[in-house]
Amino acid sequence: MTRHLITTAIDYVNASPHAGHALEKIQADVLSRYYRSLGDEVFFLTGTDENSLKNVQSAEKEGLPVKEFVERNAKQFMRLAQELNLSNDDFIRTTETRHTLGVQKLWQACLKDIYKKTYQGLYCVGCEEFYKEDELVNGLCPEHKTKPELISEEDYFFRLSKYQHTLSELISSNQLEIIPESRKNEVLNFINSGLEDICISRSTQRAHHWGIDVPNDSNQKVWVWFDALSNYITALGYATESEQFKKWWLTGEDLLHCIGKGISRFHAVYWPAMLLSAGLPLPKRIFVHGYLTVKGEKMAKSLGNIVDPFQLLDKYGSEVVRYFFIREFSATEDGNFSEERIQERYQSDLAEGLGNLLSRVLALGEKYHSPILLEKNELLDFRQKIEKQYQQKMQEFKFNEALASVWDLVNALNKYLTDKKPWKTITNNPKEFEEQLATLVLSLGKVALLIAPVMPETSEKILEALQLKNLTETNWHNLKVSLKTGIPLFPKL
Ligand SMILES: [Zn+2]
Repeated sequence: MTRHLITTAIDYVNASPHAGHALEKIQADVLSRYYRSLGDEVFFLTGTDENSLKNVQSAEKEGLPVKEFVERNAKQFMRLAQELNLSNDDFIRTTETRHTLGVQKLWQACLKDIYKKTYQGLYCVGCEEFYKEDELVNGLCPEHKTKPELISEEDYFFRLSKYQHTLSELISSNQLEIIPESRKNEVLNFINSGLEDICISRSTQRAHHWGIDVPNDSNQKVWVWFDALSNYITALGYATESEQFKKWWLTGEDLLHCIGKGISRFHAVYWPAMLLSAGLPLPKRIFVHGYLTVKGEKMAKSLGNIVDPFQLLDKYGSEVVRYFFIREFSATEDGNFSEERIQERYQSDLAEGLGNLLSRVLALGEKYHSPILLEKNELLDFRQKIEKQYQQKMQEFKFNEALASVWDLVNALNKYLTDKKPWKTITNNPKEFEEQLATLVLSLGKVALLIAPVMPETSEKILEALQLKNLTETNWHNLKVSLKTGIPLFPKL
């Protein structure tokens, strides 16, 4: 695969972003930067979901007009994207015209599967979804632990049931791949237990006049999930059938959605069914990450245990926050957040591990200017083994293990320094010293390249300090380098 469309979920803007939002965005950014580092072409999309009833209710609580409220909060999410140093190519807000027009176009494209009926059901505004009685836990929403509302009205329905067999086939055969396997099985169980048609609109009154009008029926607003899921194509220019839409969606090679486990049903069942109905290509892969938890509970405003990502970014900077979130947690499982762990990782992995390694190598370089690096490299085999492991783990979405491999190399290099004592070799055997320095510089250069998707700025700083900025596989050996000292990578906290 050489062309990847990579998307994150778009966030409700009913409150400021929390650290869980940051986790998903960092993961998607790491993937984007990783594929770019392989020479692949990437379009990385993120954005905000502004048409939900949740936003309306929160705005009403604050006594603000909804438009003003979502405008203010959307800016927080855009700022978060910037402060996390995301490399996104676009940011879609679902109140934009390009989105509204795209949603209405998609609705029309699905018309053969849309019908009207009177319906009564239990609706969780937090999830923006109807629940069946048996899906509730003690009568409460399993995600929000709140009591759903009993709704009765005439709405539009989408013939989801019609796609049950096709979806089951596509997912079991991995034509639509769901990662990890455990999530794939959950989705298949859900599909195979029988799909019912879904309600895809609500009365304009129940929507408090907020949202996108159903085409030709201004008494109804498009259900927020039908609306939100469409962002993946509306952002690319579906409404106008733009070149960008053709390139990344219609003829896309890899369409990859990164989402949280709570919304896999929407992405792996409802969304592909909508696309099948409209005759559009499906995503190729759906990567489902775990939640960031605090003392075992999901981080959520309603649960009052929010970790503010801006505070973390102010205190530690984006590089450390990115490193921590990727290294500390398995991407597919829940990860328990604790700030002490950031400090422990900072101290052991960054300050004493990588930072210390760089300053030790630079200190050696000061003793010996402009060394000619020879091909002989005692750690070459080990380095190649590490890189192979790293590539494999990245492809398997095991980002934490990929970084662990890189740190095996960091630790080996620190040990190499301690064992070989090049500061002694320099007087006894200058040629050997030169080879040792070459081993250290080239291996540390490799470390810098491998951490680039996770810590782009640190990677740059290391390459700059080693004067290896234009390092590629072809000029890897026989380089003339000089070292630049004086850049403290990870100062004391
Ligand atoms: Zn809920």
